[in-house]
Amino acid sequence: MASAVSGLEPSALWNNFAALSLIPRPSKQEEQVLAWLQEFATSRELEWQQDETGNIVMRRPGSGGGESAPMVVIQSHVDMVCEKNSDVEHDFTSDPISLLRDGEWLTADGTTLGADNGIGVATALALLEMKEDAKLPPLECLFTVDEETGLTGAFALDAALLQGRTMLNLDTEEWGAICIGCAGGGDSQISLPVSYEGAPSDFLSFQLAVEGLKGGHSGVDIHEYRANAIVLLASVLVPLAEMGTRIVSVQGGDKTNAIPREVFATLLLPPEAMADAQIAVAERTESLRREYGTLEKGMRVSLMGLEDAPPECLSAKAQGNLLGLLRTLPHGALKYSHTIPGLVETSNNLASVAPVDGNYLVVCSSRSSIMEALEDIRLRIASMAKMCDAITTRTGTYPGWQPNPDSPVLKRLKRIYAAQLGEEPEVGAIHAGLECGVIGERAPGMDMVSFGPTITGAHSPDERVEISSVEKFWDLLLELLAELAEA
Ligand SMILES: [Zn+2]
Repeated sequence: MASAVSGLEPSALWNNFAALSLIPRPSKQEEQVLAWLQEFATSRELEWQQDETGNIVMRRPGSGGGESAPMVVIQSHVDMVCEKNSDVEHDFTSDPISLLRDGEWLTADGTTLGADNGIGVATALALLEMKEDAKLPPLECLFTVDEETGLTGAFALDAALLQGRTMLNLDTEEWGAICIGCAGGGDSQISLPVSYEGAPSDFLSFQLAVEGLKGGHSGVDIHEYRANAIVLLASVLVPLAEMGTRIVSVQGGDKTNAIPREVFATLLLPPEAMADAQIAVAERTESLRREYGTLEKGMRVSLMGLEDAPPECLSAKAQGNLLGLLRTLPHGALKYSHTIPGLVETSNNLASVAPVDGNYLVVCSSRSSIMEALEDIRLRIASMAKMCDAITTRTGTYPGWQPNPDSPVLKRLKRIYAAQLGEEPEVGAIHAGLECGVIGERAPGMDMVSFGPTITGAHSPDERVEISSVEKFWDLLLELLAELAEA
C-alpha cells in the first residue's frame, strides 16, 4: 500500500508521523504510545526517563559544534482528541488512523488526524534521529500525556526530569504565528446561605427565562462580549423586585468554562403588578436587544404564567443578597494587555447559579495571564460575596504564562522567522490554559515559545495539516536550533 506520506519532506518527520499514527493514543489511554516511545528510545540507545504520570523525556547530546551549548527542551503532547463522523467505524483504542492526501493537505479518513500534537511528537523524534554531525544543542525531548482533557500530564510533571531552561513547545497550529503567553485560571465557589418563607397567598407564579444565547468558551470567546444569561436575567429582575416580586428559585449555567446560555427563575408576582411587570420585562428586553441584538440573534426573554403555586419563596433578606450577588459579580473581559495588543489579560465568567443543599451556589471562573491579577480579581469577588453575606471558596487554580517580549529565545525565533516568511511573524498569546503555563511554573525560569505548522479543524474529523507548512516549520526549527547550538 502506497503510504499517504511517501515523497513528503522532511521524510524523517513524516515517516515518524505515519508510524505514530498506527499507535492508538486517546487521552488518558496512552499506554500503547508510551511503550512505543520507550522502544524508540531504547532501540536507538537514547537516554530516557519517565515520571510517575507517564511523561517521558529523551535526551540527545549536542553535536556538530553544539556539544557544550545549553540544553534545549522540545515539548509536545502524545495524546489526541478522538472524534469521528457518525458513519465511520473506528475504535480509537485499537485501530490505526488512516492517513489521506488531499492536495496540499494531509487528513484522516473520517476521524481526527492527531496532527495536534502528533506533528510535534514526530518532529521531536526526527530531531532525535538526526545524524551524529548535525549542528544541534543538547536536546531534551519532553513528551507529555493527557494534554487534551485538562493538562493533567503537565500538572503532574516531575520537574526534575528537565535540565534545560529554554523550551520550544510545538503545539501552536498556525504557521507564521508565535505564542508567548496563556492565561491561568481559577474558580470561586460562592455559597450563599438562604432562608425561605411562606409564599404570599394571592401572588401568581411565573417563570422568567433568558434563553437562546450563543454561550461559548469562557476563555477564547470572552473578548466578544457575548451576553451572559445570568447577567441579563438579573437586570430584568431589578424592576420586578421593585414591584414586590418574590423569587422562588433561580437556576442557570452549566460548565465553569462555558458562558451561560440560559437561565430560569421562578417568581411570585403581586396581582396588582401584573400589567406593569409585563411592560417592565418588555422594556428591559428591548434595551437588551439594542445592546446585544446584532450579536445575540437568538436571544429570548420570556415571562410565562405557571400552573403550580409554590408554597414558599426566598426570604426578603435572602432575595436581596442573591440579587445583590448576581448584579455585582463581574462578567467578561476586565483588562486588556499592555504588552500584547488585543489580548484579554484578565476576565471573569459568572458561570452558574443554582440552589444546592439549602444554600445558593454561584460559581465564577476567572482567568488572567498575570497570576497576581488573577489573585486580585478573585479577592475582589470574595469581597463582593462577603457584602452579600456569602462565603467564597477558591478552587481549581492553574498557572498562566505571562508574555515576556524580551525573551531571548523569542528574539532569535522572530528574527529567523521573519527572514523565512519575508514578514514579521505574528506574536500573540491566548486567553486560555496551555501546557507552557503549567510547565513554566513547575520548572521556574523556563524561557519558552510555542510555534508549529498550520493545522485546521483540530479536535474534529475535519482536522488536517498543511503539508508545505510542515517543511517550512522544520527548516525554521533547524535554523533556530543551529543558532542555539552556538549559544
Ligand atoms: Zn494540542
